[in-house]
Amino acid sequence: MPRYEYRCRTCGDTFELSRPMAESSAPATCPAGHDDTVKLLSTVAVAGTGSAPAPAPRASGGGGGCCGGGCCG
Ligand SMILES: [Zn+2]
Repeated sequence: MPRYEYRCRTCGDTFELSRPMAESSAPATCPAGHDDTVKLLSTVAVAGTGSAPAPAPRASGGGGGCCGGGCCG
């Protein structure tokens, strides 16, 4: 059974519930008994993982561009 994450807007707590997919959007009650909850995105679609910066080729203007072309080895 899939697990869904919810956040309570009353106490700010987040909690998970295992429920059928058909009930994924049904109202969930937080462990403290509040029913003002919102469903968070499933953990499948995790955004915000830091993307590694692409190594930018640095062409120094003309001088000392030896290493990298194979002339140093
Ligand atoms: Zn709550």
